[in-house]
Amino acid sequence: MVIFKSKQPPIDLSTELTDWDWLFDSSYSPINRFPANELAGFQNAITKERVSWAQVKEYSTYISTALVKKYGLKEGQTISLLSQNTVWYPVAMFSGLRVGAKISGASPAYNIEEMSFALKTADAKFLMTTPGSIEVAAASAQAVGLPQDRIFLLEDELPGYSTVQDLIEIGKSYGEKGQVPAFKLPPGKKNKDVCGFLSFSSGTTGLPKAVMISHQNVIAQCLQIQQITPETQKKVLACLPLFHITGLVHQMHLPILLNAEVIMLPHFTLESMLSAVVEYKLSELLLVPPILIRLVRDPMVDSYDLSHVTRFSSGAAPLSEEIIHLLQKKFPGRGFKQGYGMTESCSCITAHPPEKYDFKYAHSGGAIVASTEVKIIREDGSEAGYNEPGEVLARGPQVVMGYLNNPEATARTFDEDGWLHTGDQGRIDEEGMIYITDRIKELIKVKGIGVAPAELEDLLLGHEKVEDVAVMGVPDEYSGERPKAHVVLKPGVRADSAVGRELIAFVKERKVRYKWVKEIEFVEEIPKSPSGKILRRVLKERAGRGLVVG
Ligand code: AMP
Repeated sequence: MVIFKSKQPPIDLSTELTDWDWLFDSSYSPINRFPANELAGFQNAITKERVSWAQVKEYSTYISTALVKKYGLKEGQTISLLSQNTVWYPVAMFSGLRVGAKISGASPAYNIEEMSFALKTADAKFLMTTPGSIEVAAASAQAVGLPQDRIFLLEDELPGYSTVQDLIEIGKSYGEKGQVPAFKLPPGKKNKDVCGFLSFSSGTTGLPKAVMISHQNVIAQCLQIQQITPETQKKVLACLPLFHITGLVHQMHLPILLNAEVIMLPHFTLESMLSAVVEYKLSELLLVPPILIRLVRDPMVDSYDLSHVTRFSSGAAPLSEEIIHLLQKKFPGRGFKQGYGMTESCSCITAHPPEKYDFKYAHSGGAIVASTEVKIIREDGSEAGYNEPGEVLARGPQVVMGYLNNPEATARTFDEDGWLHTGDQGRIDEEGMIYITDRIKELIKVKGIGVAPAELEDLLLGHEKVEDVAVMGVPDEYSGERPKAHVVLKPGVRADSAVGRELIAFVKERKVRYKWVKEIEFVEEIPKSPSGKILRRVLKERAGRGLVVG
């Protein structure tokens, strides 16, 4: 059997704590390791609003008490967070976790339909949002029967809605003795058995699903990454969305363990990011390929002195050869690292250890993180050795519990022996470095965010002129990939650019921007296997033969 093992020392998971206790009430907690005036925290790069870890603990205690005592929040219920990056996002998240709720992040760009789907799939009983998202929040809550008094604002005020500040005051009013105690693991359950988060991913096929992430998954991933993070990392840029697994782990949990200040950007613009990098003298930048592309291509970058940046870090999507080359040329002598993984592996399966922070290894997704095993499977199901590509399978304490209320998809993705089938193709070399060579699964990655082809196919199939459709990702200079639809029209409908534009507009009106179909190709048929599965490779080979609009 060829099983590739981590070269790192194993992590210690024997403490059996909840996330909350681990980060705020154990020997791991910075609150117990540093004097109060040395505690880092979450800081808004624009407004300068800041909450230290001690304040996160204090506010979360009050908020969770108010949610439980006044609003009846129960262990195991879900709180959905629909918000851009704000220091109140982690406060709300930890408030729920503290009393055993599950936290489900949603993209603030979602429209009403998408948000209703997210609330329903995660079975959310509470929703926390910001005034900027209130229209979508209110309408989607109404659509799924969530009462208005279960919606809370993380920032600012609006008539008719309570805010987290109100919750803090309500919590305080119960007095110190009246605070609800922190949730403990139920008898007989371990922290790997208790779900703390529901993040959305379409996995290897089908519609987005709620991924059940346990308390232990997050603790394990933090310990795995801590082990390969230099002590010098004292500030973390949080410009990636908090609802994504990268945000959840690397921008909200890991920095607490590292006692590293989190500099949050509420809305990403290249300018605001560069200003924050300079103002806070950030030395390591955790970015995604579309932002790295802008760093090497946008002339605006040249007017900022980035000499203090010692390292770039990339993840969430493949980075092209050309961008790596341009990055190295523009920022010679800097370090470079990548992380590779997915929501279903609570972020990283592999990541660069410090001795490999070098452009020489920039094409690699890194080495296997601690306590983790990887297998590379050939098409015939057998196990490949060094340098031979195949599907990447991973097993470790960060591999998640499965999909909520979806045993079929869970069984397809997580096998009986605990292996996660990633749907990615890769190879491992003699140095133990992984190289992701292709994607076997259906996923499209637009600016690092996953788009499920099935979701767009479902939508387009509902259009009166569409007989059949297959959606795939095609390379895009700026967003990495963009969705393209191959469309068979109903008999009698003529394929022309007007119909193409109509279909593009149809998606635009109904889906969040990053899911917009940018190109339509009219085809005679969608190639399918006898079992009805779309043969995406065949479709790819035939691309360009039909009329292309977009
Ligand atoms: P998500 O669940 O949104 O994090 O998406 C996970 C998928 O993103 C993986 O299965 C890969 O297809 C892709 N991905 C993540 N990190 C990398 C990387 N470093 N290189 C190439 N693809 C990546």
